[in-house]
Amino acid sequence: MKLLNRIKFSIYIFSLIIISCTSTKTNNSTVKTSAIVTPKKPNILVILADDLGYSDVGFNGSKDIQTPNLDVLAKNGTIFTSAYVSHPFCGPSRTSLMTGRYAHKIGAQFNLPPNSETIGEGISLKETFISKVLQNSGYQTGIMGKWHLGAVQKYHPNQRGFNDFYGFLGGGHSYFPEDYRAKYEAQKKNGKKVIFEYLLPLEHNGKEVRETEYITDALSRESARFITDASKKNDPFFLYVSYNAPHTPLEAKEEDLKLFQHIKDKKRQTYAGMVYALDRGVGKIVETLKTTGEYENTLIIFLSDNGGKTTSGATNFPLKEGKGSAYEGGYRVPMFFHWPNIVPSGKTFEHPVTAIDFYPTFAHLADAKIPDDKELDGKNIWNDFLAGKNSHEDDNIFVLRHRNGYSDVGIRKNQWKAVKAYRQKWKLFNIVDDLGEKNDLSKQHPQILNKLIEDGEFWSRTHIQPKWWHDKKTGIDWNNDQMPHFDKTFKLP
Ligand code: CA
Repeated sequence: MKLLNRIKFSIYIFSLIIISCTSTKTNNSTVKTSAIVTPKKPNILVILADDLGYSDVGFNGSKDIQTPNLDVLAKNGTIFTSAYVSHPFCGPSRTSLMTGRYAHKIGAQFNLPPNSETIGEGISLKETFISKVLQNSGYQTGIMGKWHLGAVQKYHPNQRGFNDFYGFLGGGHSYFPEDYRAKYEAQKKNGKKVIFEYLLPLEHNGKEVRETEYITDALSRESARFITDASKKNDPFFLYVSYNAPHTPLEAKEEDLKLFQHIKDKKRQTYAGMVYALDRGVGKIVETLKTTGEYENTLIIFLSDNGGKTTSGATNFPLKEGKGSAYEGGYRVPMFFHWPNIVPSGKTFEHPVTAIDFYPTFAHLADAKIPDDKELDGKNIWNDFLAGKNSHEDDNIFVLRHRNGYSDVGIRKNQWKAVKAYRQKWKLFNIVDDLGEKNDLSKQHPQILNKLIEDGEFWSRTHIQPKWWHDKKTGIDWNNDQMPHFDKTFKLP
């Protein structure tokens, strides 16, 4: 099998040389065509961390947490300094990854409640997931880890384009099987009907499994297993490694904790151990790509689903605030692309990109057909990215997080960012010069601010009412407060 992949890759390299040497005549001058050529069907591997802080990886400057495997990939790939996800917390952010849309437009702007099987809801079946698009174009598709997009059968990963699912359907999970299994079995024995989803047994394609390893290690093991299986077939693969680490509960292995004795804060020490375990898994995944001969033809994308939770050991320096916030720390995330000989090595990319762009970008790389009626909010950034260009010049990149009775909003366009947070007045920042959002320029540039607010109001007209809330009280409050009352949020100063 390795030999076959080497032959495939050799053919690709050979065609690259041929194409790069091809000359075309233009106005009597001979011009070499670009050497940047993308093979038609690469493997696509998305590694998503959960609540990982912007500066909690070595490649973004962490001094106290080591991430050697991620750092090697980042160094040999391109680091994005201005990568956004669509939402500052889990469910809506992941919805955008799979649908290529802002979650507000499909009623998914809140997390599904824990044990969402009790309300029977999930991401609208009208939305064709990117996994389905890739599956339909011949990809072998897998997700290992956290789902969080619907726990009943019709919303199950196997129904949404994934051939292979190993993990859990809810928004998180406890990490030590011996601990959570004991609690689960005790509650089951006592006749408890709904057992908290963090304690449920893991599953493989709908079948309960008896996991024995620390969950992060288990998800790494299953990712390696998927790659090994996939490498035996000719079709490329799409693998979504959806780690729940380092999301709470803060639970690290003793061996990993020992490495971080220098961190005195217990929460951060545990968090560091969890990040380290994730990094170990990335090492295992990369090793598997190499031994199966898939490494050279795999685009690896690493990012976090939202900002780090600063009350649970994370740091997002130099960004302001963290998970849940409309300031940068909430939704600007650590990210890199890696693909030998294709993605520029040792570079940083400073133009803004958003995870909403993945859907059309992946479809482009896979030469996959997107359904004609599929609505998308992002762009295929691939060619611009390779050329070092900004795909989002003059575009608005939005974030909107509903709180109890009001909404926080961030609107970025080029160097400008308008922010409304905590019922305070709108502020304006030059986000290129002032990454920490310290210097409010709303008085100096009122027209720029007003235009951004107007753009935000226009965008908000595309939203629909939430289909669920993360708990009952929030839904009741929402109705009592007649939310979202965007007239108040986007009122010009
Ligand atoms: Ca998250």
